Amino acid sequence: AAAARGEKLSSGNVNHLIDSVDCFLFDCDGVIWKGDTLIDGSKEALDMLRSKGKKLVFVTNNSRRSRSQYAKKFLSLGIPVTQDEIFSSSFAAAMYLKLIDFPPAKKVYVIGEEGILEELKLAGFTGIGGPEDGKKTAEFKANSLFEHDKSVGAVVVGLDQYINYYKLQYGTLCIRENPGCLFIATNRDAVGHMTDLQEWPGAGCMVAAICGATEKEPVVVGKPATFMMDFLLEKFKISTSRMCMVGDRLDTDILFGQNAGCKTLLVFSGVTTPSAFHDPSNHTHPDYYTDKLFDIVSLM
Ligand code: PLP
Ligand code: CA
Repeated sequence: AAAARGEKLSSGNVNHLIDSVDCFLFDCDGVIWKGDTLIDGSKEALDMLRSKGKKLVFVTNNSRRSRSQYAKKFLSLGIPVTQDEIFSSSFAAAMYLKLIDFPPAKKVYVIGEEGILEELKLAGFTGIGGPEDGKKTAEFKANSLFEHDKSVGAVVVGLDQYINYYKLQYGTLCIRENPGCLFIATNRDAVGHMTDLQEWPGAGCMVAAICGATEKEPVVVGKPATFMMDFLLEKFKISTSRMCMVGDRLDTDILFGQNAGCKTLLVFSGVTTPSAFHDPSNHTHPDYYTDKLFDIVSLM
């Protein structure tokens, strides 16, 4: 039964794991940092893997920032990374629209934050809505319609601190009334770390609101969906058998890695607790599990 749950990372298997992997994919919140606070030893672990020539890639479901904003966050925590090592769900939403040849003449309505707007712009698309519409209010006037832009061809929904009834109406009208309008979710995480101390409602909450009003299901581009993996495999031409996904969540990160045939390492520095992992009701089993990323260094 112990083996079926995966192997606990130990001095007996850590070198095999490192030697059998060329590319490590890292979830960010719960593995590298918690909110804006670095998790102890994660920088040293990344430095060690880089010194061994491993390719490092960072995959986050948090759509609030763009890749360049994430590169700055990494730097501020003392970890140098380049923008093309970062795959955020904000970037994934823009790349999905590119992949399906979304017409740049059409607009994208954003229920989400700056990161999505910035990535859309960089990809050549016109995003509207976002934080700006957080200041607007819905008005109910007799004989007057709520006006929405008929040229909106996609609604992208991510974590939105500024969500309000105006935005719900705007996004709902686009999806229900603009012919062929797409409904794209950056991710469906139930909760996220707005700070290191506490979890807050995640993008899954905003996505559910639009599902409720439109009675439609979105295309999801974040983990555990395969879109980001397909995209980065195509970009880096690496074989998944020599890749390892490191994450703190079974239902997003570990599934994301397993769906693609990567090795997987679960860490207990984030959402998943050892007791939830060992509970008989859990049927997602990574290849390896350990307390925190730094163990990869201390067990060597
Ligand atoms: N979405 C939001 C809004 C978050 O705050 C977080 C974590 O803080 C996440 C998603 C999950 O991010 P990750 O995939 O890096 O764990
Ligand atoms: Ca995480």
